[in-house]
Amino acid sequence: MTELQYELKFRTSVSTFTGLAIAGLVDRMIVRNDEGLPCISGSSVKGRWRFFAERLLRADGLPADLWIHDSNGPLCKDNPCTLCRLFGSPAVPAMLQVGQAELDASLKSLFKALLDSDPNPVIHPDTEIRPGICLSRFRRTALPDHLFFEEAVPPVIFSGQLIIVDSISPAERQFLDISGRLVDRLGGRKAVGRGILEGGIRINGGSV
Ligand SMILES: [Zn+2]
Repeated sequence: MTELQYELKFRTSVSTFTGLAIAGLVDRMIVRNDEGLPCISGSSVKGRWRFFAERLLRADGLPADLWIHDSNGPLCKDNPCTLCRLFGSPAVPAMLQVGQAELDASLKSLFKALLDSDPNPVIHPDTEIRPGICLSRFRRTALPDHLFFEEAVPPVIFSGQLIIVDSISPAERQFLDISGRLVDRLGGRKAVGRGILEGGIRINGGSV
């Protein structure tokens, strides 16, 4: 087993939403950890990562030991492809476990102090509240009564833990590095440019 850290450096505000809302006040709220601090779930990070890993594996010119199942073929089972081995499939447990991304240690105390200074349950002082409108799909004009408010975390650094449960080859390790760096953005509100990453998912610390 190998334990590594990953880092997400955002260039724009980020919104990974829960299903929670406070009716008429803040319509979409961001995910928070058990201390009430903004965080990004490991499954959100892994989902985007997997998408870029698959795209990379479907490209030509990779070393022969990095391969992917036929997109129309049966699911991998006994001799899984690189994608299923690393990211898992219904029949294969994932070798890569992605922990929740938390605010970088240097920022946690700042965010905590902000939250403690103003324990407002609706408007959190550590996030920005952004207004938005819904557009009519057909007329491309704003729909009446569809102004909404949502939370966004200012562009900061998040970090989390990666666990590789088995031993991976140097090529697979390098593949994780490269596919992680390709991840362009995370979270909701792509249309307004939210959640853009600088340098993708960056793995640091340790080696296999
Ligand atoms: Zn596969």
